[in-house]
Amino acid sequence: MNQPTIPIMGSIVQPNQIIQGTIQIADGKIVRIEEGFPVDTDHVLDFRGKYILPGLIEVHGHFREPGLEHKEDIPHGTRAGLAGGYTTVFDMPNVRPPTTTVARVQDQIKRYTGRSYTDFAINMGSSVDDIDELNKIDPDLITGVKIFTAGHATTPTTIPHLADIARIFEILGQRRIMALLHAENQELVNYFTHKYRDELHRHDLQAWDEARNLSVVLTSALEMIALARQFGVKLHLLHLSTSEEFAAVEFGRQIGVDVSGEVASYQLAFHSDDYARYGSLINVAPSVRTPAEQQKLWQLLRQGKIDAVISEHTPHTLAEKQKESVWEIASGMPGIQETLPVLITNWIKHFGHETLEEGLIRIAQMTSQNIAHIFGFEQKGALVEGRDADITVVDTQQVWKVQKADLFTKNRWSAYEGMELIGRPVATFLRGRLVYHDGKIVGEPLGQRIVRAS
Ligand SMILES: [Zn+2]
Repeated sequence: MNQPTIPIMGSIVQPNQIIQGTIQIADGKIVRIEEGFPVDTDHVLDFRGKYILPGLIEVHGHFREPGLEHKEDIPHGTRAGLAGGYTTVFDMPNVRPPTTTVARVQDQIKRYTGRSYTDFAINMGSSVDDIDELNKIDPDLITGVKIFTAGHATTPTTIPHLADIARIFEILGQRRIMALLHAENQELVNYFTHKYRDELHRHDLQAWDEARNLSVVLTSALEMIALARQFGVKLHLLHLSTSEEFAAVEFGRQIGVDVSGEVASYQLAFHSDDYARYGSLINVAPSVRTPAEQQKLWQLLRQGKIDAVISEHTPHTLAEKQKESVWEIASGMPGIQETLPVLITNWIKHFGHETLEEGLIRIAQMTSQNIAHIFGFEQKGALVEGRDADITVVDTQQVWKVQKADLFTKNRWSAYEGMELIGRPVATFLRGRLVYHDGKIVGEPLGQRIVRAS
């Protein structure tokens, strides 16, 4: 079944429509998409009744190499990716040592080569000590530069001072390198953390949300937009959690900034009322928001005002998640395997089963097409002729009750365990090759570094 050139037929999710048709593949590319099914289906992979989507792209591959392999590693994380329909991942730089120098970017490329099951690209990091490296890096080796304006336990590269960010943006603007921002205002994080932890002696899970409140994220988003405007930097705001930050993105566009914003899938699945049930597993940074705020994100998503949805795959061990005090918990959760069915299931929950196809088109745009476009990887991101045959097939008739045994991640826990999800991938193709099928990885790691089409 793993011949690279067998045509695939089913319900094909294209940028603005879904067609019943057949995808012809050669040399890893989509060469033709035809409406209708062939008369002789003996030599066609038959996915009739299932939806065929473009392989997803993960902006936040926290695969934890080097230095944090007890949390995750590249083979486990990218196998989980294939099982979740992801065919490309961007590596996140907050590893040990962090990917903040040219040499470490090159090391990271070596680390992925021959070990990654998905295609990949490298998000470079920055730190105050390594700013000059941004003058030396070949922009074609990286997606862009990720900057943390605020830190938590897992981020050694925090750059809290605007003057340092200005120095970085000046270089990025001149060199036409994109900035990816984890935008929380560190001064406000410090102030509210001190207030809730040290003065009010709050250690409960909700105290985290109150300390990481709207002002923390909105202040930083606006600061970054102002600096991007000043230095002509293309800006991607990572894991936004409120409608107000998307209003800031709109404002940024009005004043001429090339800015985009994404939402992490867990913001769309969990809200602050869920702590009673899921506890510290859903502690994330920025924090989950209220049900009313989450509802606003879903409305924006349906309107196409959210540029990207990412899994924000951020694995930790269970012990790192299960701490007495909220201030000790490692923020973040794994999710690359669960995100696509989580999005499909929650879309149906919010908008009804009759809008499923509208939802699939929107989900494909946000998890693949728009990300490919924002980062300039136009060979990826859509089921159209000429693009890479990166494909995932989902079965929306089937319910997946998430079990530990199904998970490909190294630590094999999931906040979604026990949940009944619709739309689990049944097959994933990387550049035309079947690499995941019916719960099993097929073959060796074939991932390649992706480069921008010139
Ligand atoms: Zn992240």
